[in-house]
Amino acid sequence: MESTELPCTNHVCMMQAVGRLGWDKRPIPAEPEPYEVVIAPKKTGICGSDMHVFLSESAGKDASTKPIVLGHESAGIVTKVGSKVTTLKVGDRVAMEPGKYCLRCEFCKSGSYSQCQNVKFAAAEGIDGTLQAYYSLPADVCYKLPDSMSLEEGALIEPLAVAVMVIVSVAQMPHNANVAVFGAGPVGLLTMAVAKALGARRILAIDVQQQRLAFAKDYAATDIHVSVPRNAGEESIAYAQRHAQVISDKFCLDQPGRGIDLVIDCSGAPVCIQTGIFLAKRRGTYVQVGAGTPNVLVPMVTVLVKELRIKGSLRYGPGCYDMAIDLVHQGRIQLKPLITHRFPFSQADLAFKTTKDGVGPDGKLAIKTIIDGPLD
Ligand SMILES: [Zn+2]
Ligand SMILES: [Zn+2]
Repeated sequence: MESTELPCTNHVCMMQAVGRLGWDKRPIPAEPEPYEVVIAPKKTGICGSDMHVFLSESAGKDASTKPIVLGHESAGIVTKVGSKVTTLKVGDRVAMEPGKYCLRCEFCKSGSYSQCQNVKFAAAEGIDGTLQAYYSLPADVCYKLPDSMSLEEGALIEPLAVAVMVIVSVAQMPHNANVAVFGAGPVGLLTMAVAKALGARRILAIDVQQQRLAFAKDYAATDIHVSVPRNAGEESIAYAQRHAQVISDKFCLDQPGRGIDLVIDCSGAPVCIQTGIFLAKRRGTYVQVGAGTPNVLVPMVTVLVKELRIKGSLRYGPGCYDMAIDLVHQGRIQLKPLITHRFPFSQADLAFKTTKDGVGPDGKLAIKTIIDGPLD
């Protein structure tokens, strides 16, 4: 059952100090701006980037060590509508794209709003996130959910939109592509799901954890590979080159039509990035999605010799949320299997612990953890 109750207090869940979670109250937002709506977020997913902020591993240390309300993967119910809003009404269930873009800078004006330099993005650089009873956003970044979709699925539209951005907007995945994805966490899995839904021929998932790969195989991958261990004293680049060869031999990638057209790194780990560049087919595409070690040694001559296309993918762009909702609505992507753990607002700390450990209090593998909105 989905709760439609509206709380009378704006309870928030925040990082009070690095690694320390707490609960507080904030004023309930007043009447919305003309083009904005107020939403009661009912379901919020927790992900790796929340952990970066929570553990203060993110860039911009000053901002991230200040107390900040967490959360950015949310769906909720519209509770107030600004005077100029015509697309939404009170009671609508919406997936929330958690950024207020300036719509005036050169990037916004050219349709690349992921690069907006004036964006106010939830739970980033001092901007409060969505783990609150009420949150206001421009109406044009709130997407009405079809009746067939739950609010939990609505919360997962955010990471799914990240995956749509990778496969469609950034990689422009060719038809029948062979795809390799490093990292079988939620974004990796969703990236595989979008690739599959849009006609990839083969999807190879690579991770260090067998259990995650078994999940990936059930979910969207056609092939899986557990990373081979690194030898004592083996340099990262030497290991990456050897590992890419192991993968290539195992899956016969050197044969015509079998090479990896598209490599996507969702791990952020230097050895995965390096292995991915060695693994990509000549003239293939490599996309960086995972954020990890900021500076990584890249075999640039390999990039040159193989004429690789290397691209970064940040958040989402025009059409990503709409397409994400369509893919789920049409039954081409299933989100429910990813939700492994659920916690009430008062136990948000357990949700963070579960995400950090990769395993819940029940001892089961954690993929996506959902926190309910506050009730009272
Ligand atoms: Zn996220
Ligand atoms: Zn802008």
